[in-house]
Amino acid sequence: MDYTVTAVVVCAGRSHRMGGVDKLFENVGGVPVLARTLLFCCKSECINDIVAVTRRESIEKVKELAKRYGISKPVKVIEGGDCRAKSALLGAKSAAGEYIAILDGARPLTDPAQADKVCRAAFEYGAAALGVPMTDTVKRLEDGMIVGTIDRSRLMRIQTPQAFEKKRYIELAQTAARDGRETTDDCSIYEMYGLPIKAVEGSVSNIKITTPEDISLCSALCAPRETRIGHGYDVHRLEGGRDLWLCGVKIEHDAGLAGHSDADVALHALIDAMLGAAGLGDIGKMFPDTDDSFKGISSVLLLERAAARVYERFDFGNCDITIIAQKPKLLPYIEKMRENVARALETDKSRVNIKATTEEGLGFTGRKEGVAAHAVCLLYRR
Ligand code: MG
Repeated sequence: MDYTVTAVVVCAGRSHRMGGVDKLFENVGGVPVLARTLLFCCKSECINDIVAVTRRESIEKVKELAKRYGISKPVKVIEGGDCRAKSALLGAKSAAGEYIAILDGARPLTDPAQADKVCRAAFEYGAAALGVPMTDTVKRLEDGMIVGTIDRSRLMRIQTPQAFEKKRYIELAQTAARDGRETTDDCSIYEMYGLPIKAVEGSVSNIKITTPEDISLCSALCAPRETRIGHGYDVHRLEGGRDLWLCGVKIEHDAGLAGHSDADVALHALIDAMLGAAGLGDIGKMFPDTDDSFKGISSVLLLERAAARVYERFDFGNCDITIIAQKPKLLPYIEKMRENVARALETDKSRVNIKATTEEGLGFTGRKEGVAAHAVCLLYRR
């Protein structure tokens, strides 16, 4: 069962390590840090509304930001306290939700799906926090000298969101404040009183902006990658006495395609589209028909080799292939074709679309003299 969740966005810090610049209003990929944080709250399935806790002088600025970026969920902006724990508690008290997800205003790249995972873990355990396992070896120091190694398998770097059942959180935070116990993050109070907090594994790209270097890092992560498009077209003649191969599937038919290789016209169009997108010329240049090693070769192998060259510099996006043949009916073979292409390209079948059409009896395909294929392919620069 799902409960209502208020995101408590803590943005009352003084950006001490930013050289006097308020990090919350700095641009990351053209959008202010805090606007990105509010926007991911809008994309979350679990978060219903937002309480932004900020300094008094920033209240109007935060309201204006939420308006300018069309934040679609209700946003309340309140004044924070003189430390993070007080700001979080003030936010919790003015939250409408049964649960709260406390998050740093300066974590603009949080994945909404991961935030939802944390909320759902809190529904189950009462409290949950996002974090990433330690990948670096951690050493213990004494007077600047390494004196030991800490077992990192039991360590985690904690991020936000951290989600809690609201009533319990408020009780604990008030008790901790009365007891004069200081905390550095929100789940520490659960630790102090021995209550469970579920750890949810997040992503290292969920960066908290602390220094100007973090702004550069986040901007680089947000930058769109260069997108490349390519088109391929091929035709082969139909001849009796040959096998008909299309996208690596042997098709039942009374004629096959003539050519130096297995004449798989659809894969040839796809190879040309991929090479075109990558700026690597064409299939004839990569696999010349004067080379006897390609005689009768399966075009699936040619596709794998072309893909290996392309993948040196690009990631695969998707492809769409259209096969034009009057006969035979290709529909029963399409799924197998998609599987073959996806396997050869080491990609998911959902990124491979294949369709077949006729030309209504017109032209050389209509007269069943040959089969044609078009393909388009999208690549992303690594
Ligand atoms: Mg060809």
